[in-house]
Amino acid sequence: MNQNSKIDDISVKESNFKDKTFSEFLDDFKASMKRAFHGEQTIDEFCSTRGIPDAVLTELMSTNPLALTIPRQFGGFGGTVKQNIAFISAASYESLALSLTLGINNALFIQPFSKYGQDSAKPAVFDRFLNNACMGGLMITEPDFGSDALNMQTSVTHKNGKYHVQGKKHWQGLTGMADFWLLTARNKSESGVLQRDIEMFMCDVKAPNQRVVVDEYFENLGLYQIPYGLNHLDVLLPENQRLIPETSGVKMLQDLLHRSRFQFPAMGLGFIKRMLDEAIAHTKSRLISNKSLFTYDQVQSRLSRMQANFTICSAFCVKSGQVADIENDLSPLGFEANVIKSVTTDMMQESAQFLLQLVGGKGYKLNHIAGRAVVDSRPFQIFEGSNDILFHQIADAVLKMMKTAKESDLYQFLKTLTPRIADRVHDLVNFEFDPQLSQRKLVEFGQLMSRIFSMELVSEMEERGFRKDLIENALILLKQDVSMLLNTLRFDNKTLVVEGYESDSYWFNY
Ligand SMILES: Cc1cc2nc3c(=O)[nH]c(=O)nc-3n(C[C@H](O)[C@H](O)[C@H](O)COP(=O)(O)OP(=O)(O)OC[C@H]3O[C@@H](n4cnc5c(N)ncnc54)[C@H](O)[C@@H]3O)c2cc1C
Repeated sequence: MNQNSKIDDISVKESNFKDKTFSEFLDDFKASMKRAFHGEQTIDEFCSTRGIPDAVLTELMSTNPLALTIPRQFGGFGGTVKQNIAFISAASYESLALSLTLGINNALFIQPFSKYGQDSAKPAVFDRFLNNACMGGLMITEPDFGSDALNMQTSVTHKNGKYHVQGKKHWQGLTGMADFWLLTARNKSESGVLQRDIEMFMCDVKAPNQRVVVDEYFENLGLYQIPYGLNHLDVLLPENQRLIPETSGVKMLQDLLHRSRFQFPAMGLGFIKRMLDEAIAHTKSRLISNKSLFTYDQVQSRLSRMQANFTICSAFCVKSGQVADIENDLSPLGFEANVIKSVTTDMMQESAQFLLQLVGGKGYKLNHIAGRAVVDSRPFQIFEGSNDILFHQIADAVLKMMKTAKESDLYQFLKTLTPRIADRVHDLVNFEFDPQLSQRKLVEFGQLMSRIFSMELVSEMEERGFRKDLIENALILLKQDVSMLLNTLRFDNKTLVVEGYESDSYWFNY
């Protein structure tokens, strides 16, 4: 069955796209990707040089893909988060860098600016997206403040009707390429003290006094089509370019980041499906010892794991499509958003590693999809919340919920949090549990809970009619993860690194 036939076919009114259905919009974009990536020059030919060839970029922008999430009243398609997921997933099947570029524009600029930007600033910005193929990104990270972003040093002062933003930001996707940025900064008082809350502003780099200077471009390991670097900020912004929070700036940033994390499965799904399809095609055609590689049991083990990743990621897409639209406040949904982001990105990296393993030596090239996939997918486990930290936060969130419910028995607690699968893991989790955990044990507990919650979402998708053989395989593999993670969690390990370890440790002497 055509995958798109189940996607909502909403005819859009009051917009430049009023005569187009979503399926038509998506099909036009798919056709442009085909021309861009499989035309005169193929993606495997240009992927190992930095940037996007002009002709390819022009082709990709020819169907106005960034119109998708621009609200209808500003001439856009007014697409939902569910539609955005389907769209970005189609892109990630072809190119992870392209899907991240769309993800940055949609989730890190257009959606938050639509929600929190001032109406007087919106028409000019969206008009340039629609008519001049402009792009936008988000600046949070600073050289000394990454995971610890709330302590950022970029400051803002308000004088003579302008906001003066000063600081250094690095690792911004689309550095030097985006026309618009959302900047994050902290208010500086007259005495020079930085306030705790975060402020956000829209910056138009083509406008007077708003130029962002790129101090350095980075040699990023993968994602060659996206420029990264170190940005110097010293800009004066009109008052209507400040984003208006509903309560605090930190809550606004949480809502933004959680919505973005909820949309990671969009990039994950197409990418994982591509890894799976490539792996099946390769192993079916490769003969080893006169036997198809596809028939080896260890190969089947890897393939079925990749297929389970596809199923789990599909379940995340279903969930995100239900909850993440921009009118919803996602700031309280840290647990769900963090599970979905961290598990998706782990599955992306695992699927890429599996494909490279199965393809063998010829995959270890930047101009082979397998090699490229490994380096391109790796930073997803680092950016927008390092997975180690997210698993810790997931554990904290669960322990808080258990405390509120006055429940120390994990199985009893799961009967409320994950009612569909609590009985399925009963034999594993039926124990009293000591909530005093070291950080490494919290991370392990977070990993465990993220897999249990993934089982719940997969079961929820089963109720909606998703095919049962895929569901059953995914649940078996997730249960195996749960079993392994529980063993790790219960294994007592407090090892610390031995500092100054060089003495008495040269193997040659022994
Ligand atoms: C490809 C790529 C794209 C990016 N895109 C953007 C973008 O568009 N906009 C933007 O603003 N930024 C972006 N970033 C920056 C990204 O968000 C940061 O790299 C990330 O937040 C981590 O910050 P850091 O690099 O300073 O690492 P650090 O904060 O130094 O952390 C490094 C590691 O230390 C460990 N660690 C840190 N804190 C803890 C803790 N409390 N407990 C246990 N372990 C901990 C974790 O393993 C973590 O991965 C991007 C980065 C990359 C690599």
